Amino acid sequence: MELWFTEKHTEHVKLSIQVDKQIYSSQSEFQRIDIFESPEFGRFLTLDGYMMLTEKDEFVYHEMMVHVPMAVHPNVKKVLVIGGGDGGTVRELSRYETIEEIDLVEIDEEVVEACIKHLPQTACGFKDARVKCYYDDGLKFVRKYENTYDLILVDSTDPFGPGEGLFTKEFYGNCYKALKEDGIMVNQHESPFYKEDAYAMQRAHKRIVESFPISKVYQAHIPTYPSGHWLFGFASKKYHPINDQRVKEWKSLGLKTKYYNEQLHKGAFALPNFVEEMLEHVE
Ligand code: SAM
Repeated sequence: MELWFTEKHTEHVKLSIQVDKQIYSSQSEFQRIDIFESPEFGRFLTLDGYMMLTEKDEFVYHEMMVHVPMAVHPNVKKVLVIGGGDGGTVRELSRYETIEEIDLVEIDEEVVEACIKHLPQTACGFKDARVKCYYDDGLKFVRKYENTYDLILVDSTDPFGPGEGLFTKEFYGNCYKALKEDGIMVNQHESPFYKEDAYAMQRAHKRIVESFPISKVYQAHIPTYPSGHWLFGFASKKYHPINDQRVKEWKSLGLKTKYYNEQLHKGAFALPNFVEEMLEHVE
């Protein structure tokens, strides 16, 4: 007998991954949480049937979310992660000794508990004493802060269900307010490839451009996300992601990475023409 997990990427496209077994399944107050074991991708987490991460390719997403802004901002002391209940973003942040506080606001405590139990590769980040977890809606949480964080990482689900509010103009405006005067926000920015994802991506970009003076988009290749072509948003009050890249300083940290490097940092901001056109259309 063969077991397969299938996610519908469009009406006409599906991604299927063969599964050895299902190791966790629960319906939380917010979403259905499943963790599977697979021969090709190792363990993987899905929320409401949508792929969140696999052990095999999560390094791409988490390294690109964390190291790009960390190689630009010269003095990150206080970071806010919104979402990110699997711990992968926090794990990458905790590699920087100069960071003093890492706050994580996750709407669903059950995601964190399940990942600590079944996905230790990503959830090991929660062991760091600098990490404080708040279980709340990121949209509400961020409203309370002004001039507080050096870096905000929006590691959210897609713009429907509990993640919907994390793609609104109000949310980006509040992130701007919660950041210090040279703060940076990075968000997972959806994919430009399939129509519905591309629409969500353009809508998010338009709202971020309206909220931040510097707003650039960069890309990475994530095999298990729809089309494998994924974007991140880099929104900033002061620093430019390429002109202010601190190549030597970042290299001197000696961090070993599997995907990110200083050339790729620059190259990731060089976007295909069809993506540039989509972005220009809403700028
Ligand atoms: N890498 C992932 C992706 O893009 O597929 C995101 C991973 S992480 C598991 C996303 C987390 O965001 C989930 O655990 C979810 O519970 C959390 N989340 C969704 N909406 C949220 C909200 N409004 N406030 C805080 N956390 C939220």
